[in-house]
Amino acid sequence: MKALAKMKPETGLWAVDRAVPEVGPEDVLIRVKKTGICGTDIHIWNWDDWAARTVPLGLVTGHEFAGEIVAKGALVEGLEIGQRCSGEGHLIGKLSRQSRAGKFHLDPATRGIGVNEQGAFAEFLRLPAFNVVPLPDTIDDEIGAILDPLGNAVHTALSFDLVGEDVLITGAGPIGIMAAAVARHVGARHVVITDVNPARLELAGQVADVTPVNVAETDLRSVYPGLKMSQGFDVGMEMSGNQQALDQMVDNLVMGGRIAMLGIPPGKSPVDWSRIVFKAITIKGVYGREIFETWYKMIAMLENGLDVRRVITHRFKAEDFVTGFETMRSGLSGKVVLDWG
Ligand code: ZN
Repeated sequence: MKALAKMKPETGLWAVDRAVPEVGPEDVLIRVKKTGICGTDIHIWNWDDWAARTVPLGLVTGHEFAGEIVAKGALVEGLEIGQRCSGEGHLIGKLSRQSRAGKFHLDPATRGIGVNEQGAFAEFLRLPAFNVVPLPDTIDDEIGAILDPLGNAVHTALSFDLVGEDVLITGAGPIGIMAAAVARHVGARHVVITDVNPARLELAGQVADVTPVNVAETDLRSVYPGLKMSQGFDVGMEMSGNQQALDQMVDNLVMGGRIAMLGIPPGKSPVDWSRIVFKAITIKGVYGREIFETWYKMIAMLENGLDVRRVITHRFKAEDFVTGFETMRSGLSGKVVLDWG
């Protein structure tokens, strides 16, 4: 089968020919139809310090996918050949206290497809049946292929009650933009999204009913009067990993404000903790998606009017993956989807 693998410790991915994976008794084999390129895949492409430390050479990468079950192991129940599906790319252990309490997304033994285990940039993917998420007919393959990052957005956005709240999202990448759409969908009063990249802010305004602010040019407080805001934002979602953005968020939050953090700062972050204490701010770190509650909720929202399709700005055939990756690396795109035929 065709696949994209990390073959050398340098920039890039390589088209390779691999054997179709064999399925174990509790696995399914998925014929991959569409895959999304993630920021994680860009780290692996670039072969930065994290990738070099984490990803074994020879690995088939990719973890955002949709496809169809074409084979299943002898012990698999409740899934049939021909079932369209996406799936959770975090392969969890079942022995930790967290897993045994049903908090699968907090299992410390988690391994990721396309990062630690063979991934989805391939014609076929082996996945434990446990990880499969069947897709209803209303969700097509390209939306199915971005449910993983939409799940990050949903998990972050649903961290705190948003009904009637004013929300600040720092970072207008695809996940920030989708989080903005989710926040509006679940009843936030106003959503302001900040970035310094005009192309991303423009895309945010096209995908969701939000107020984009370029903080390189505009003082964030200048949008308060137009939105009838007096004190600041009730809830923040940090999606950029930018230390100034986090600082600005703390500055613009109300007393008792809440922050959900998905963005990953580049190192130890100099945070003014006294301000966080005196403003009585709650901060929650967000990892992955809740397995499988986030999947349940996002599919329900997609079936009830949540529309994130316009966050997909580019579509390429899998053999044109180099162009796909260059498009992502330009910083000017939304989600890029590869078609595996
Ligand atoms: Zn991803």
